[in-house]
Amino acid sequence: MKFIPGNGGNGFGASFCILGVVQQCLLATAWAQENHAEMVQVSEKASQVHRQSYVFDGHNDLPWVIRSDGSRSFEVIDISRDQPEMHTDIPRLRAGGVGAQYWSVYVPANTAASGKSHQMTIEQIEIVQAMCEKYPDIFRLCLNYEDILKARTEQKIASLIGVEGGHSIENSLEKLRRLFNMGARYMTLTHSETLDWADSCSDEAKSDGLSEFGKEVVREMNRLGMLVDISHVSPQTMQAALDTSEAPVIFSHSSARSVADHPRNVPDEILKQMPKNGGVVMVNFFSGFVVAESAENTKDMFERGCALRAKYGDDEEAIRKEMAAFRAKKPILPGTIHDLVDHIDHIAKVAGVDHVGIGSDYDGVSVLPKGLEDVSTYPAITQILLDRGYSEADIHKIMSGNILRVIRESETVAKWLQAK
Ligand SMILES: [Zn+2]
Repeated sequence: MKFIPGNGGNGFGASFCILGVVQQCLLATAWAQENHAEMVQVSEKASQVHRQSYVFDGHNDLPWVIRSDGSRSFEVIDISRDQPEMHTDIPRLRAGGVGAQYWSVYVPANTAASGKSHQMTIEQIEIVQAMCEKYPDIFRLCLNYEDILKARTEQKIASLIGVEGGHSIENSLEKLRRLFNMGARYMTLTHSETLDWADSCSDEAKSDGLSEFGKEVVREMNRLGMLVDISHVSPQTMQAALDTSEAPVIFSHSSARSVADHPRNVPDEILKQMPKNGGVVMVNFFSGFVVAESAENTKDMFERGCALRAKYGDDEEAIRKEMAAFRAKKPILPGTIHDLVDHIDHIAKVAGVDHVGIGSDYDGVSVLPKGLEDVSTYPAITQILLDRGYSEADIHKIMSGNILRVIRESETVAKWLQAK
């Protein structure tokens, strides 16, 4: 639900965002207990196919939840135990066959105004580091392709760090390099607000894509070996990044715009360019981006949120009241896991099966399709892909192979650029 400008959530401040997640999760968990088994029966065959490989997910917001609860500590939220009010915990990561994860070190875009973005991003990186230290038998912090292979050999969850929004570098290549040195391995060029150098899909354009400095940022990321993530950016910025980047790019958590018309999703003319670039579109599970009718309502809600913020400023209570009434009229319908697989199908058709992956956005969104309630549900995707005629090899590419290829290629490009 991090798609309305001005804060970390839906236009109402981070606390409401998390409260929303909690409420939705409780509902989702109750639903899962009652209906999950009926939604998709995972056969022994599908289970076997799923476990022969593993899930490498492009985006999970657990670190922000750990920050938002006020503790920033895994002593308070012990994820080795069931955490039914969240989407993510270790038992469910294991049940879902998650073998690698980009943990998002998101901080709201409006922290840039007070000069806190960079510092807060570093604190979020420290949360991921603390998680790997607290559960050393479960997670291994990974900085490169070799590390990921090692983590897999040790049967640990390869844990990588993704920065969500170029505001975190505060217009400084030096700060970009610092984040890389601290372990960040992708950066989404923008979040919900347009920057001085890159345009967001949910804000006014300033640079018609990327400014000269924006192109410099992309080139420096190529040189470092940091993936250029073009989720959240405008189509012009997607195009500019594709034209500038020498390495494959990623969409860490975006779905297909032809299936559900929302600006956060990827248009076909961009999808068609993925084979040439070599990158991967990792599908977002949020019902507001996945289900066509919900995408319409999410867009309307976004515009309404912006208008209310302009009208009421910081009066969260007034905004909350009007938005609740608006939501009641135009709800985000959850849809089902089949709606999500429609996005995978479309991207596989238009971009090719070598260019689609998984980027759930778990613990960052409020409404999820039925059958995809939490990180334990990925095997059901494998089941539906088998039902739709995908080969085992193609399923493994979608689950992890494609993003692994992108990481390896980006490291090759970085070495080549550094030698130049
Ligand atoms: Zn996001």
